[in-house]
Amino acid sequence: MATHTVINPATEQAVTDVPVSTVEQTDAAIERAARAQVSWRAIAPGDRARLLRRFAETVDQHADELAALETAEAGHPVGAAQWEAGQVRDVLMYYSAAPERLSGRQIPVPGGLDVTFKEPVGVVGLIVPWNFPMPILSWGLAPALAAGCTVVAKPAELTPLTALRIAELALAAGIPDGVFQVVPGKGSVVGQRLVDHPAVRKIAFTGSSEVGRQVMAGCAEHVKRLTLELGGKSANIVFADADLDRAAATAPSAVFDNAGQDCCARSRILVEATALDKFMALLEPAVQAILVGDPSRADTEMGPLISAAQREHVASYVPDGAPVAIRGSAPGGPGFWYPPTVLAPVPTDSPAYTEEIFGPVVTVTPFSDEADAIAMANDTPYGLSGSIWTSNVGRAIRVARGVETGNLSVNSHSSVRYWTPFGGFKQSGLGRELGPDAVDAFTDVKNVFIATD
Ligand code: NAP
Ligand code: MG
Repeated sequence: MATHTVINPATEQAVTDVPVSTVEQTDAAIERAARAQVSWRAIAPGDRARLLRRFAETVDQHADELAALETAEAGHPVGAAQWEAGQVRDVLMYYSAAPERLSGRQIPVPGGLDVTFKEPVGVVGLIVPWNFPMPILSWGLAPALAAGCTVVAKPAELTPLTALRIAELALAAGIPDGVFQVVPGKGSVVGQRLVDHPAVRKIAFTGSSEVGRQVMAGCAEHVKRLTLELGGKSANIVFADADLDRAAATAPSAVFDNAGQDCCARSRILVEATALDKFMALLEPAVQAILVGDPSRADTEMGPLISAAQREHVASYVPDGAPVAIRGSAPGGPGFWYPPTVLAPVPTDSPAYTEEIFGPVVTVTPFSDEADAIAMANDTPYGLSGSIWTSNVGRAIRVARGVETGNLSVNSHSSVRYWTPFGGFKQSGLGRELGPDAVDAFTDVKNVFIATD
């Protein structure tokens, strides 16, 4: 049996070997999921809800173990990894309230009764990237199960361990066999098969825009339902009238969290020209202060990149002679380390400014006025997140309405709260996850007319 060796990116040591699944094994999981769906959707709403709550509690009881696995396979600082395990618990708990609330409508018609049902779409293929293996798994899994769907998940080959453990915890919590399965393996094999297999009725994909486009084309073959959460190149827009101390103090974490491997990373800082010098002076100590190092330490703020290939990719945006304005620290020795790096000034047609780097590299670019800021923020095929710093309420609202992205924050960098919708404009995605309506994306509306005459 072929296996993949999971590598700890902070030490370059092997963690464990995981099977690399074949097309036949993927088909077997899909067929099991299709059989399980018949009984799962028939479970009374209150019982499905209770099972999801028990699943959430079981995850909570194993949160430290899950966090340690995430630190080992993805290099996430343990504090962040614990938050991620908590996110899985919270997302399961939030959507455990959905089964009894999956209401249709009654629509007035002559000669009868017209009602709608939200029917589960069936088997869901959930394709997950390596950057946030646990949260992203839960964002698809929880609403899908709540809707009465069964799930076959494919974790990224680099980070399968938490998903495999969460599937065991589901069984331990009483979720029936076949309702949630994890099939580790390659995207080109397992992921592609989920897209191509006719019994998979919906794909929830998170990953790069490039693979997302292929997945979308594959889904078209079967008119398969599809949610896409893709890349980003988000702007952090700082006006001169903002609280510059706070804007500068928080700008590093808005891009360097998870070593910049975050689809919401505010990787283009746009600063009103009149405040540029002051902002840069305030930014420097904030970047230098980031604690980069051993992810198993509680005070570590930034860990390594996921792989040697990712580090090479990131480093390619900072060639010799690149305009490095600020550079933080990173450990030497084994591990895929890269220091927090601020590039300025950067031409707006250079790859560092236009492409998603997915690493701890940010550009700082001045703008002249409000219209210029909005135009620069929108000058990208992406549209996922962004931040606006200003003390002028009217401007904050105008700019928030003008920036074409799915998730904006004003005078903060928060973007993902599981009870609010999350997703991208333009080439950052299709559909929304999380929030009060996410379950709808795993259902199809059925209209039934019952004659009374
Ligand atoms: P990726 O290369 O697109 O991979 C994502 C997932 O798709 C992995 O599980 C991958 O498997 C699988 N895959 C690869 N080829 C496939 C195919 N032909 N058919 C079906 N599945 C396939 O992305 P990544 O490099 O792991 O992750 C980084 C990207 O994800 C960034 O662009 C980032 O912005 C984006 N992202 C977006 C969000 C969001 O919510 N918008 C959140 C997180 C990340 P293997 O890895 O095993 O090959
Ligand atoms: Mg990839």
